[in-house]
Amino acid sequence: MAVPFRRTSKTAKRKRRTHYKLSVPGMVNCPNCGEPTLSHHVCKSCGHYKGKEVVSK
Ligand SMILES: [Zn+2]
Repeated sequence: MAVPFRRTSKTAKRKRRTHYKLSVPGMVNCPNCGEPTLSHHVCKSCGHYKGKEVVSK
């Protein structure tokens, strides 16, 4: 089995991991109330989806 020739340095390890990022899921502002909400989901603050109120509070 092949083994690494050298130990990966702290710098090389950290540089590689700079590409590991959390990505924000598709957020849009609600056209009804303007709150940031997930696209293709009912708005959590006003309950609107596709211009209609589908969840009442
Ligand atoms: Zn809304």
